[in-house]
Amino acid sequence: MEFQLSEAQKLIRETARSFVDKEVIPHVKAWEEKGAIPQTVTEKMADLGFFGIPIPEDYGGAGLDYVSFALVVEEIARGCNSLRTTLSVQTSLAGTTLLAAGTEAQKKTILAPLARGEFLGAWALTEPDAGSDAANLRTTAKREGDEWVLNGAKRFISNGNLAEYVVVFAREPGTARQDGISAFLVKQGTPGFHVTNVETNTKLGLRASPTADLAFDDCRIPADHLIGRQGEGWETAMYVLNHGRLGVAAGAVGIGQACLELSLEHARERRAFDRPIGAFQLIREMIAEMAVEVEAARLLYLKAAWLRDQGEDNRLAVSLAKLFGAQMAVRCADRAVQIYGGYGFSGEYPVERHFRDAKILGIYEGTNEIQKMIIAHELLGELERAEA
Ligand SMILES: Cc1cc2nc3c(=O)[nH]c(=O)nc-3n(C[C@H](O)[C@H](O)[C@H](O)COP(=O)(O)OP(=O)(O)OC[C@H]3O[C@@H](n4cnc5c(N)ncnc54)[C@H](O)[C@@H]3O)c2cc1C
Repeated sequence: MEFQLSEAQKLIRETARSFVDKEVIPHVKAWEEKGAIPQTVTEKMADLGFFGIPIPEDYGGAGLDYVSFALVVEEIARGCNSLRTTLSVQTSLAGTTLLAAGTEAQKKTILAPLARGEFLGAWALTEPDAGSDAANLRTTAKREGDEWVLNGAKRFISNGNLAEYVVVFAREPGTARQDGISAFLVKQGTPGFHVTNVETNTKLGLRASPTADLAFDDCRIPADHLIGRQGEGWETAMYVLNHGRLGVAAGAVGIGQACLELSLEHARERRAFDRPIGAFQLIREMIAEMAVEVEAARLLYLKAAWLRDQGEDNRLAVSLAKLFGAQMAVRCADRAVQIYGGYGFSGEYPVERHFRDAKILGIYEGTNEIQKMIIAHELLGELERAEA
């Protein structure tokens, strides 16, 4: 057992930490008010190579391990969960789909610029009637000559309006559930592809991250925009989501860590009854509980990332890390707001934003309930009903 990060892992974490302290934290409030992250910020992240950390060098990435990537994801979330969402969607979802199932040409022409951060990607599985029950997706893709014709709608797609390419899951007409689903690349601006709604700063949280609804109306894409084999999209989506969830778990620790650091600062500075509030046992208890939970959640995501780096099955480890991380972040943000008192409720202090941003972690990429179902399935399998 080795609990020590390598020098390279420490260096990339420090690089991300200093980027976040200088380029993210001082500006997040303004980004939220505008409902957008300036392109210059993602360009700086691209210059630092953050979008391609676990992608092989042949395809525009750095070819580093998943532990390094997850450490960077934690740091970005410590500053801004909207920005962390952009990183996760780009690398863990769109990038991993192409890496896992894309053709060599797709990897060279689309994955490589994605990994270099030259343009943004998005990943569209959810539909108005298919969220947790994603296999109920209704968007169809019909082959006509050298083209696929897409019809349907997608809901809540992060960066769906900004992405140069959207990975879209659609089914062959006449198929049901997991069968007949394939993944496709749809380029922004393709006739028949419409962004029908974008929600930014009217959401509970993630107010600097655009969440788009998309529609496909006889949208024709070239035959070579199919990703992977026809009908194998469901397996690809589940494989990719496991990578995405690892990022959410690391991001949860970033929020927990931010809440802990901000609480320590406030507990030292704020005075009541002639003493710093950090002298009161009830405040100290909240700090101690936060510290335990943040560290436990960090160890869970690091183990999941380490298993991935060893080439081992990490599905159980990922769901444990995502479920505990998402719940931990909500609890830590709640405690941080409590420690800040009225200032915690005010939009002037960042704990208010972390409180709002923590909630999404237990909703997207598989809700807390879905993670519990996966964990129980990994442990128990399917149990048959008794014969009547
Ligand atoms: C800000 C934001 C960004 C998003 N970004 C993306 C994106 O980029 N790409 C994408 O594809 N999707 C994205 N999503 C969609 C997200 O993944 C879904 O919202 C999520 O999967 C839940 O689906 P739903 O909203 O339809 O809720 P539902 O599936 O309707 O769930 C409602 C409730 O029922 C519970 N539930 C459902 N089934 C069961 C069950 N069998 N047992 C117990 N409880 C159950 C759920 O846990 C939940 O509590 C995003 C969503 C948001 C809000």
